[in-house]
Amino acid sequence: MSGFDVVIIGGGPGGYNAAIRAGQLGMTAACVDKRGVFGGTCLNVGCIPSKALLHTSELFDEARNHFPKLGIKAEVSLDLAGMMAHKTKVVGELTRGVEFLLKKNKAEGIVGEAVIAGAGRVDVKLPNGQSRTLETKNIVIATGSDVMGLPGVTIDEDRIVSSTGAIALKEVPKRLLVVGGGYIGLELGSVWRRLGAEVLVVEFLDRITPGLDSEIGKQFQRILQKQGIKFQLSTKVVGVEKASDALRVTVEPAAGGAPQTIETDIMLVSIGRRAYTDNLGVANASVKLDARGRVVTDVHFRTNVPGIWAIGDAREGPMLAHKAEDEAVACIENIAGRAGHVNYDAIPAVVYTAPEVASVGKTEEELKAAGINYKVGKFPFTANARAKTIAATDGFVKMLADAKTDRVLGVHILGAEAGNLIAEAALAIEFGASSEDIARTSHAHPTLTETVRQAAMAVEGWAMQM
Ligand SMILES: Cc1cc2nc3c(=O)[nH]c(=O)nc-3n(C[C@H](O)[C@H](O)[C@H](O)COP(=O)(O)OP(=O)(O)OC[C@H]3O[C@@H](n4cnc5c(N)ncnc54)[C@H](O)[C@@H]3O)c2cc1C
Repeated sequence: MSGFDVVIIGGGPGGYNAAIRAGQLGMTAACVDKRGVFGGTCLNVGCIPSKALLHTSELFDEARNHFPKLGIKAEVSLDLAGMMAHKTKVVGELTRGVEFLLKKNKAEGIVGEAVIAGAGRVDVKLPNGQSRTLETKNIVIATGSDVMGLPGVTIDEDRIVSSTGAIALKEVPKRLLVVGGGYIGLELGSVWRRLGAEVLVVEFLDRITPGLDSEIGKQFQRILQKQGIKFQLSTKVVGVEKASDALRVTVEPAAGGAPQTIETDIMLVSIGRRAYTDNLGVANASVKLDARGRVVTDVHFRTNVPGIWAIGDAREGPMLAHKAEDEAVACIENIAGRAGHVNYDAIPAVVYTAPEVASVGKTEEELKAAGINYKVGKFPFTANARAKTIAATDGFVKMLADAKTDRVLGVHILGAEAGNLIAEAALAIEFGASSEDIARTSHAHPTLTETVRQAAMAVEGWAMQM
């Protein structure tokens, strides 16, 4: 038996950042994860391995298809095992880094499966079969999420894979069918397309990436099509037959109609993720879940049971690593009696394809639906000097500002380095900046950041470089 101020269940970006912040604030903390390695979905099978493959596959594609246009001659061939080795090395370094950070902040990292026995008590099944009971003033549920399955389809992580199998394929498939046109499917589809697979994305809705501003989404889809990714929208997968030579996937129009069979070698199921609270013992403490299995909390991350809190993918909101991290900090600060808070309007979201897509704040559709009057400023990457020098002229920046106050309400970027460029927009929204604040801020030349400034100028109709 041991007593803690806080026991955190889950060692992903939510859990490990909660443990670090607890240590910084002088609390005794334990962080329990059953995976055997800290870092959660993000470091082990999510953000990090996918971004390693996105980077290396992009370099491969650049070298093969774009170097000649830039005056570089190179003989390029693929070493898939080497690419995977780079991915594994990066994951190993970062997960060891999390262990180091837990120790540095005097949080105890415990490998084992945690079950909430009741408020103030967590039982941990250790890998050696023994168990350990942790007594604690507070429990933070940070158990994250898991792959959502497709009814009637068994994921074998061999030919029918989730994202976890799709980042570890042993060879480049000739044909890859991606079920779901969300960011994970598009990122992983891009990886294998660049490495030579024929990629078809089947999406239930009539558009890809439904959360994105629709103008950005449409142009994004056109660019992916130019790269060779095919799309079949408004279509649902209803079954799959595993023949020895191929997978025969049955699809139907989403609205109903005649079925069609598509043959493929690998099928990636990426239709979303679900909050993961399996075998956690939430019922032992009567912790309330919503209809989608997410832990219900108030804005302070308190569940219905005093002393039990929840953060990250296990509760509502966008399933993003930095959202889990932000909630971790705010939750621990609330436990410490401070005023932790997360501004959900200023959380950026990024799709790490080439070009990248990034957004923060409201989309044009959301503003229309809310009846808010707004102004729009747009600026294309073709008109940016740096974009020309690096031969990355696809895309545009779209800024939405309040028609009366000029306050920035949303920024949406399709273009090179969008994931980095969006940080300025997130800061602007967090600080309540106006588009004029951005337009009058000096931006180094020649940089891609000037696209954001020019879009801000365009809000008031004085973009100078187009
Ligand atoms: C392929 C892919 C790519 C992604 N890319 C990005 C990206 O680029 N950017 C981004 O922001 N997000 C990305 N995400 C999403 C991101 O990984 C998640 O939003 C993030 O990991 C959520 O953090 P979390 O701490 O809430 O949960 P998780 O990271 O899921 O961690 C939860 C941990 O809890 C452990 N656990 C669960 N139950 C128990 C228990 N009973 N006892 C002990 N341990 C338990 C699990 O083993 C897991 O390690 C990606 C996800 C995937 C799948």
